[in-house]
Amino acid sequence: MGVVGNFRTTVRKNIIFISILFFASCASLKKLPQEHYYEFLYNFNREFKNDTISFHLKNPLKCPVNIKLGKDSLNPNIEYLFGNITLTELQDTIIRFEYPDFNQTNRTKYIVRYGDLNKKIEKNEVAYPFPKGKEYKIIQAYNGKFTHNTLYSQYAIDFDLKIGDTITSVDSGYIVGVIEDYKDYGTSKKWLENDKSNYITIYHPHSGIYTQYVHLDHKGSLVTLGDFVEKGQVIGICGMTGFTTTPHLHFNAKIPTEENGLISTKIEFESGVKGEDLKKKDRVK
Ligand SMILES: [Zn+2]
Repeated sequence: MGVVGNFRTTVRKNIIFISILFFASCASLKKLPQEHYYEFLYNFNREFKNDTISFHLKNPLKCPVNIKLGKDSLNPNIEYLFGNITLTELQDTIIRFEYPDFNQTNRTKYIVRYGDLNKKIEKNEVAYPFPKGKEYKIIQAYNGKFTHNTLYSQYAIDFDLKIGDTITSVDSGYIVGVIEDYKDYGTSKKWLENDKSNYITIYHPHSGIYTQYVHLDHKGSLVTLGDFVEKGQVIGICGMTGFTTTPHLHFNAKIPTEENGLISTKIEFESGVKGEDLKKKDRVK
């Protein structure tokens, strides 16, 4: 009996110990924010009169956007009739077609993506995303196993900027996305699966490329939607928001695709430095 009793006591002690560890580690985990912020907001309207449906579409951005309709179970084929619309920068237009049996119960779901799929991408050399004279270490390069392993991130580069360091635009262009209201970061799977980081998106009209600067500080954007920025212009402040284990700048160049929206693309930096030649632990300036 004594042995069983001791065994039980040991098990109980272990359970208490493990529970304390579990709750202690939970307390240190940051909760994923419930709120979701968007890079930009659009205000599209639809109107149904007699047998015709009209969609009033207004592009709020200084870049082309591509619009499709999501599936509407009550209005079969409407997404095919609407098709694939590309709006030029700031374009304001109305799309109309006959749809006599239109059922107005469901809300229209718009799928809005950056870019004009017919625009040719012109690759050109860009600057580093930090001020001239500064030197930083690369902590994750192309095809990095940790997080640079999807269609959206495979050619991203992480530079070891610290919280409060200055981020600059790699090329001239227009600000087409800003998120700066998140405050926290996390390292759990939930944070990886839910994008809760602050970032800026810039459209470079002469190349057709988009660039993104991710993990900005809370209120760490120094630009607003629609601003024009020069190559090397200060745009933001590095922080630690979203899924990340250390402060850094995640820099990513992207191009539009029909199937997947903006996907990661290779880029070349000034003085002929190819993004693919940069490796983890390299120092760049
Ligand atoms: Zn990264």
